[in-house]
Formats: sequence, structure tokens, C-alpha cells
Amino acid sequence: MPIHERSLVESERVLKKERLVIDGIDVSGDWNLIILPRTVEDYDLDFAKEIMESPDGKTIQQCYQCSYCTASCPVHNYWDDRYNPRHFIYLARLGMVDELQKRVDVMWRCVSCHKCTHRCPKGVLVEDVLKVILRVMYKRGLIGDYPSKKFDQFFTENVLEYGRIEDGELLFGWMEKQGYKIKKDPILRKPIPFFSDIPKWLKDMVSKPIKEGNISFIMLNAKHMLFHPRTKEWNKFKQVLRKVMEEEGALAKGG
Ligand code: SF4
Ligand code: SF4
Repeated sequence: MPIHERSLVESERVLKKERLVIDGIDVSGDWNLIILPRTVEDYDLDFAKEIMESPDGKTIQQCYQCSYCTASCPVHNYWDDRYNPRHFIYLARLGMVDELQKRVDVMWRCVSCHKCTHRCPKGVLVEDVLKVILRVMYKRGLIGDYPSKKFDQFFTENVLEYGRIEDGELLFGWMEKQGYKIKKDPILRKPIPFFSDIPKWLKDMVSKPIKEGNISFIMLNAKHMLFHPRTKEWNKFKQVLRKVMEEEGALAKGG
């Protein structure tokens, strides 16, 4: 299978002469570029099988390596080109666990924007698959806790509680966990942003709709903060979901 991204090829395997003329024909630069083959001996096909057997991971089989996901990924394009969803899928399917392990310092960086999944022409649930890859590696003791795990757990608990993403609860709850002093009203215990010790960007974000007089946005957010509209029958569904997630190792037991 061809490797399209040059950054993935070790520099010692790339042969290129800046100036080369053969039989009077100028083949300088990229015209004479050769990538030396490599031999891969360590495959762990049980690793790929475990991913495919997971409900979230089975669409990995549909990938045909077009790289739309990587081309769409903001982490790859604006942060670090070592974060490459197509490549992680490629390595996972071949069971090249050692190669994945070399990249664990960037593999947790997904920001869950779902652009990859949206753009994938083969219906691969890319973000879910990437999470399963990390989960299987974690279960096998191949990686430790990744830096964003605490936030992921907090996010999951928040969604499990309400059946939806509650932006205000999530944002201010997380800030509080990080040590920011969040001022709350004495009755409902809801955050009061302007009297809280929070970063400037957050104050600006909260004050923007007020400055712009965006009344409907303010009312909608205030309603959500005060009443937490819940998904119908959520409490029953929540118990089932929690049990499945605990069994899958995606949630700490009794959490
Ligand atoms: S966009 Fe889909 S098919 Fe293409 S490389 Fe990514 S996961 Fe595979
Ligand atoms: S969901 Fe993650 S992997 Fe997919 S495009 Fe967004 S940041 Fe990249």
C-alpha cells in the first residue's frame, strides 16, 4: 500500500540527488527520488481483531486509505502532522502495535470535531475507531493514562447525567475542577461568570452575546442552565448505558 505522506517516511529511507543527469536527461530532485523498502516483522493481528470486534471499532474494515480524514483533520493540519488518523488506522489494521506506540504522545490529541467521520466516503466512524484503538492499547497495558483522560471522564459523566452536552455545566464544572474559583448563586448553585475568577477568554465568550444583544441565545442558555432539559426516559437509558460502558472498560465501575 503506498505511503502518501512524506512525513511518515524515515529520512534514512529516502534517496534523492539534487543534481543528476543520466544519458543526457536531467532527472534532478524529485525525478530521481527513491524510497527504500522496509521489512516489518512484528504483526499482532489479534490487536486488529479486537478492534474489529468492538461495536465502535468494526467500521475500521471499511477503510480504503483515501486520507480524506487526515486532510480534514484540524489537529493534523494546524497542530502536529504526526497526528494522522489514516495512518493510525493503517497501522492498527496491520497490527503494527510498535509503530502505534511510537506515536502515543500525539494519539490522544483528537478534539472530537467529527470532521473525519463526516468526510469519510466509506462510512468509517473514524473518531470512534481511533478511540477504540487507544482503548485496546490501554487495556493491554501498552499505554498509560493519556493527558486528556480526566476531561474525557468528566465529559462522559456530564453527558450521562443529562443525556446531552450541557455547555455551561461542562465548562464551569471543568474550570472549577482545575482550581478556578467559580462564584455560585446561593439557591440554585449555578455559576455567576462575571463574579468568578475565570480566564479572560471565557469572560469575553460569555459577554459577547450580551454586548451583541443576542437575546434569544442568552434566553436559551439561561433556560438550559436552570432547567436542564433531559432526554425522555433518560434515567432508565442511562443505567443501561453506564453498565455497557463499564463492561467495555470505557467507564470506571461505580463511577
Ligand atoms: S476517509 Fe475513511 S476511507 Fe479514507 S482513509 Fe480515512 S477512514 Fe479510511
Ligand atoms: S474528530 Fe479527531 S481525528 Fe477526526 S478530524 Fe476531528 S480532531 Fe481529527
